[in-house]
Amino acid sequence: MKMKRFLAVLGAIVLVFPLNAQLKADYIQAEAAKQVDAYLLDLYKHFHTHPELSFYEKETSARVAEELEKAGCDEVITNVGGYGVLGIMRNGNGKTVMVRADMDALPVQEATGLEYASTVTTQDDQGNTVYTMHACGHDVHMTSFIGTARMLGSTRNKWKGTIIFLGQPAEERGGGADAMLKDGLLDKIPLPDYAVALHTSASLPAGHVGYVGGYAMANVNSVDIHIKGQGGHGAYPHTTKDPVVLAAKIVLSLQTIVSREISPLDPAVVTVGSIHGGTKHNIIGNDVHLQLTLRSYTEEVRVALIEKIKRICNGEAMASGIPEEMWPEVTVFEGTPSLYNDPVLSEKAAAAMGKILDTEKIHVLSPVMGGEDFSRYGMTEEDIPIFLYWLGGVPQEKYDRAQAGEISLPSLHSALFYPDPEPTLTTGVESMVSIVNSLLLEK
Ligand SMILES: [Zn+2]
Ligand SMILES: [Zn+2]
Repeated sequence: MKMKRFLAVLGAIVLVFPLNAQLKADYIQAEAAKQVDAYLLDLYKHFHTHPELSFYEKETSARVAEELEKAGCDEVITNVGGYGVLGIMRNGNGKTVMVRADMDALPVQEATGLEYASTVTTQDDQGNTVYTMHACGHDVHMTSFIGTARMLGSTRNKWKGTIIFLGQPAEERGGGADAMLKDGLLDKIPLPDYAVALHTSASLPAGHVGYVGGYAMANVNSVDIHIKGQGGHGAYPHTTKDPVVLAAKIVLSLQTIVSREISPLDPAVVTVGSIHGGTKHNIIGNDVHLQLTLRSYTEEVRVALIEKIKRICNGEAMASGIPEEMWPEVTVFEGTPSLYNDPVLSEKAAAAMGKILDTEKIHVLSPVMGGEDFSRYGMTEEDIPIFLYWLGGVPQEKYDRAQAGEISLPSLHSALFYPDPEPTLTTGVESMVSIVNSLLLEK
């Protein structure tokens, strides 16, 4: 009898202070589903119907801050690098893990036909009224992140350490992470041992995840080229220096950079996305403007692309007889650095997701040439290992039809893109909770 009683008391103690405390997979799964049912779907629809453009995330960030507070963060800091938000959960000695969600939407007019489609218009930098939509899934990111905070906030007896929830503005313009870091982010928080994030995938089905160890997303640079000529009458070309012909030569020569000058084993893209010049049939104008996007992985290739573009511009201008002082002006904008998923952390995170999801729902993917400024958190001198994974969003039925070749799937940023909220959010919460929990448990 006494022994039984002793065991019962011991059991109760173990329940309250479990040895080797951790969240079990079935608990995480059940709790994530419950959260999505009871709370997160509404929150998702709120974010979806209240999109705000990059650098204008005023209401969104206020809601994120309020939700982080409710989820049990000990400290919530707002207005970091613009509308950036930090929620800190302190729970004794242990590892420090940072979880990031981006908060901005895009100037896209939603055409999904969903009952909760966005009809919102907002003002852009130029004061234009533009339709606004969460076409990149950042509403999914915020909602999963709040779900993660709620679950970890309500299970403090199952983990030790510190979790930092970072709501980031202006990912779409590649400026939000930089703004937060420049505003002293790393002085405001305990130094993270790891930083993790997820991004919605428009090609994986809801309920699945994918990841890439190592280089996962590209360096992004925007380049403007101002080509100058000497205009005149369209019938007297010999008295002019025609910038349209020069622009045409430059556009074609630029194609040889990737095909002839960069190693076929190094990924690179040079795209001329915009060309504007001239006013009328019979006038040779003075200027042509080109807008390019460049993609690469390594710093060497990134620098080489820019040098080669300048060389080609100058060389073609010289060949066209343009005086040196009028050679094209090439302006390179600071872009998003390539995203390098720490290989060791990637494997740890994949193992943690494997506790929650069936193996066939975890995909090892190829890198893509898109960009993500989450990369910046891994590039400071503190050398924080980072990991960003893909969270499938495509409704299963649409995915199956696409696999059968009946439809093509809209990409991220498309007016037609939408995730299947329930399975996407459930998987978002359970995968992230599992990753954070397992990293916190590390010695
Ligand atoms: Zn995007
Ligand atoms: Zn995005």
